[in-house]
Amino acid sequence: MKAKPYLPYNKASITNAEIKAVVKVMESGWLTMGHRTIELEEKFSKYIGVKHSVAVNSCTAALQLALMAHGVGPGDEVLLPSLTFVATANVVVNVGAKPIFVDVNPDSLCIDVTDAERKITKKTKVIIPVHYGGQPADLDSLSSFSKKHKLIIIEDAAHAVDSEWRKKKIGNHGNTVCFSFYATKNLTTGEGGMLTTNDEKIANFVRRNRLHGISKDAWKRYQPGGKWQYDVLSVGLKCNLTDMQAAIGIEQLKKLPKFTKKRIELAKHYDKLLSKVEGVRIFPVAGPVINSRHLYVIEVIAMNRDKFIERMGDLGIGTSVHFIPIHSFTYYRENYKVSKNSLPVTDKTSANIVSLPLYPDMSKKDVARVAASIKEILSN
Ligand SMILES: *Cc1c(COP(=O)(O)O)cnc(C)c1O
Repeated sequence: MKAKPYLPYNKASITNAEIKAVVKVMESGWLTMGHRTIELEEKFSKYIGVKHSVAVNSCTAALQLALMAHGVGPGDEVLLPSLTFVATANVVVNVGAKPIFVDVNPDSLCIDVTDAERKITKKTKVIIPVHYGGQPADLDSLSSFSKKHKLIIIEDAAHAVDSEWRKKKIGNHGNTVCFSFYATKNLTTGEGGMLTTNDEKIANFVRRNRLHGISKDAWKRYQPGGKWQYDVLSVGLKCNLTDMQAAIGIEQLKKLPKFTKKRIELAKHYDKLLSKVEGVRIFPVAGPVINSRHLYVIEVIAMNRDKFIERMGDLGIGTSVHFIPIHSFTYYRENYKVSKNSLPVTDKTSANIVSLPLYPDMSKKDVARVAASIKEILSN
C-alpha cells in the first residue's frame, strides 16, 4: 500500500495576499514599525472592541510589558497555571517576581480559581489565567476572585484570538490581555504579539517601553516630519513589531472569521468521530463561550501517551503536547519547587494529553484520517 502523505501538526494559512502585502512594504523602503503597524493596531482594536492595542514582537514581550506596566517586581507573587507554555512563567521571573503554580480545572484545563485561592499570600499581586487551547478561562469567577483579593488580572490569550466570553471577544473584559501571533497561532505574523487594554496609562507605558523607554512616538523619528530629539523616561525593552509583519497581520485579520469558522467546524467533526471511541477522552466546549479552537486536545487513557505519539508518527500524522508542565522543568524544580500533590490534575492530565492536527487548510477528510488512525492504534 502506498504511504499516505505526511499530515503535519500545524500549517500556517498564507496566500498571495500576505505575500504581496509584505513585498509592498519592502518596496516602500520603510521596513520596521511604521504606518502598517499602527494600522494593524487600529484594526485589531476595532475587531476586539477594545480601546487600545499595542503591537509587539511576541506574546512573551506583551506579558513582560504587562507585568512591568502594573508595577510587578521583586517581592511580588504571581499566580499562574503550570499547564502553559514556559513563557508565562519566565516573564514573571524576568521581572523579579515569584511564580506560584496553580492547578487547572479537569474539564476546561484552565486555571482552577479554588486552588488559586488556597495559594494566595500577602504577597500575591497578579493572576495570569491562560485561555487554554482557545477555551476561555472562567472570567466571572476570576473577576470576583480578583476583586475580593485586590489582584490584577493579566490574561494570557496566546490561544484565544477570536474566542468569546459572554458574547464579547477575549481582549475586551477590562483586563490587560496578551495575544500571540507566533507561527502556529490562529492569526500569525510569523512572530508577533499584541497587548490590549482600556486603560490609557497602561497602553502608553507599553507603547513607550516596547522601544527602550523612549518618549512618545519614537518610531516616527526617521519618518518625514519626525523629530531627531528624544528623551528616555524609563528602561524599556526592544520588542516592537515591524511593518513587514504588520502587513501579514492585516491580511490575516481580514480572514480571521473564516479561519475560526473552519477550525470550529473541524473540531466538531473530531468531537463527532472521537466521542464514542473507548480509550480516549475529549474536552467538549463548555460555558458561555465561543472557543476559537486553537488546539484540539485529547486525553489518551488506554495506552502510554508517548507510545501513542510515536505510533501516530509512524502513520504519518504529526502531533504535539500542550504542555509539559512548567513545574517539571529543571530550572523550575531547582528554584520554585512545588510540594508533592499540590497540582494533582496537572500532573495526571499532562501525562496523557495530545494535541491533534487542526488548522484552516485541513479538510474533514484529514480529520477522518486522524480519527481512523487513533482507532487503529488503540485497537492493536
Ligand atoms: C505561544 C504561547 C506564548 C508565547 O507566545 P510568543 O508569541 O511565542 O511569545 C505564551 N503563552 C502561551 C499559552 C502560548 O501558547
